[in-house]
Amino acid sequence: MTVFPSMHSRRLLGASVLTLLLITASGQLFADTAFRYQIPVQPEAASGYQEKPGWATSSFSVAAANPLATDAGYQILKAGGSAIDAAIAVQMVLTLVEPQSSGIGGGAFLMHFDGSKVLAYDGRETAPAGVTESLFLDQDGAPLSFMDAAASGLSVGVPGVLRMLEEAHSAHGQLPWEVLFAPAIILAEEGFAVSPRLHTLLAGETALKANAAAADFYYDTDGEPLPVGHQLKNPALAAVLKQIAEKGSKAFYTGGVALDLVQQVQQHPVYPGSMTEQDMAAYEPVVREPLCTDWKAYRVCGFPPPSSGHLTIMQMLGVLEHTPAVEAPLQDGLPSEAWLHQFTEAARLSFADRALYIADPDFVSPPGGNWASMLAPDYLRERAGLISATSMGRATAGVPGPWQVSYASMPEQEEYGTSHISIVDAEGNALAMTTTIESAFGARILANGGTDLPGGYLLNNELTDFSFQPADADGVPIANRVEPGKRPRSSMSPTLVFEREGGELVASLGSPGGAAIIHYTARTLIAMLDWGLNAQEAISLPHALSFNGPTFLEADRFPESTIEALRAREHEVTERDLTSGLQAIQKTADGFFSGADPRREGVVMGD
Ligand code: GLU
Repeated sequence: MTVFPSMHSRRLLGASVLTLLLITASGQLFADTAFRYQIPVQPEAASGYQEKPGWATSSFSVAAANPLATDAGYQILKAGGSAIDAAIAVQMVLTLVEPQSSGIGGGAFLMHFDGSKVLAYDGRETAPAGVTESLFLDQDGAPLSFMDAAASGLSVGVPGVLRMLEEAHSAHGQLPWEVLFAPAIILAEEGFAVSPRLHTLLAGETALKANAAAADFYYDTDGEPLPVGHQLKNPALAAVLKQIAEKGSKAFYTGGVALDLVQQVQQHPVYPGSMTEQDMAAYEPVVREPLCTDWKAYRVCGFPPPSSGHLTIMQMLGVLEHTPAVEAPLQDGLPSEAWLHQFTEAARLSFADRALYIADPDFVSPPGGNWASMLAPDYLRERAGLISATSMGRATAGVPGPWQVSYASMPEQEEYGTSHISIVDAEGNALAMTTTIESAFGARILANGGTDLPGGYLLNNELTDFSFQPADADGVPIANRVEPGKRPRSSMSPTLVFEREGGELVASLGSPGGAAIIHYTARTLIAMLDWGLNAQEAISLPHALSFNGPTFLEADRFPESTIEALRAREHEVTERDLTSGLQAIQKTADGFFSGADPRREGVVMGD
């Protein structure tokens, strides 16, 4: 696939230009810098399943879910920016061009490696001080439907991504903060081509049209979604980003932008939320110690709670380590029926523990006082012993260690949306960042920052990642219930892998996909690091998963014989689209080899 045919001719830009002034269409002047953003020739983006070649680079690489966003990161790296600099530029462009998935109205988890230390930056949204545990219950005490809860003011958490990026930039940035906003501001002012995926998701969307600002902005007067290739300008977003570029994140968390956000939430016509300006001003990112777990010859580092990602992935991989190895996990290039059985059984066991134990660590203590209890080899061996030749159907949680309080399991709920970014720079910094506004188009509220201009950014519906039900039928509380100031449990799994001996970086990866992020990431780790596939091959392999109920297989990717064999083992098999958005960068002898998901529009660039 050709992406940005003129890329090679543009490679000398940036680093070779020492001092340039950057002036946007409206006359905005950025500081002197070696960086001058060039709007790329707009690509023909993928729609549906599109084979991707994988990309070899020698010194740096950036992988993101949209070619314009990847290119912004590429140009920043080219101009001497660090991995975090590039991630900020990528995130701002994603806010504009992939508004359905992530943006400044949402939250993110960032794993950062500076060549010696790994840190986990938590920019997860936080519940306002005014919420109660019955946030998503109706007057009769029954849970709202997912869509009613999501497309509302109730579901909006205090966004975290900007303050988190600002904190990471102050520690690891090379280029000035304001410069990193230039690509998004220029594209927002000059316009970008609506991609096939954005068009498709707009076409399938009804709740977004109930928001007048979004209906005017993303649809024509007949209610038809903007066509593919439509040059869309977003003046409101450009104006908001300029304020943040100049003044830092306080221009978002206080003042007119924050006031507008709070009004949008409080004045939702059907389900108003409680968020206040104090909630906005009080938001703080958390820098956490990552969880790093040995697996085979590797040390896999991932996000601790409030994400369930790393713990659940490593439970799955650990259970499989204690299960008799399948002789031929790949047959004719596809995961075999015997391996799929073990993988989905390991998922059942791990999802049962996830539902009981994992929530915001400021509110819930881990079993045995340490999350590592859930990954203890003896415990995982015991869990693996529950796997037999036929499916267990539904697993119950185990007991990894004594727990102070007794909680009930959280029922499985819907999760959607999201974008993943992987970057390595030429200095040896690496990051994996998964970023989200939760479901596609988030809370379906387009906020314009109080600018009175068309467009803007979408608010998240992250609070629907809490359990709607605060307790089970016997009144036993659920660990991940709604509480003021709490961060909802996540599945996001930004992952950095290192050599167990020597500590060299091996890979950066992650994916969107709701709770299925966990299976997508686990399977990609296995395919790359155990089966020896390259990053692209590993990403492209068909998916299979279980959330501790039916077994889901990616539609039209497995032969009938595999489906029948799983049914014979008592799996309740359903085929469906499993739209991962994996991005992975793997270290090779000569540099890096990277892959982007054929199921979405992502690409990789680098030198
Ligand atoms: N909100 C979800 C989470 O944080 C992610 C949603 C998605 O990727 O689809 O786990």
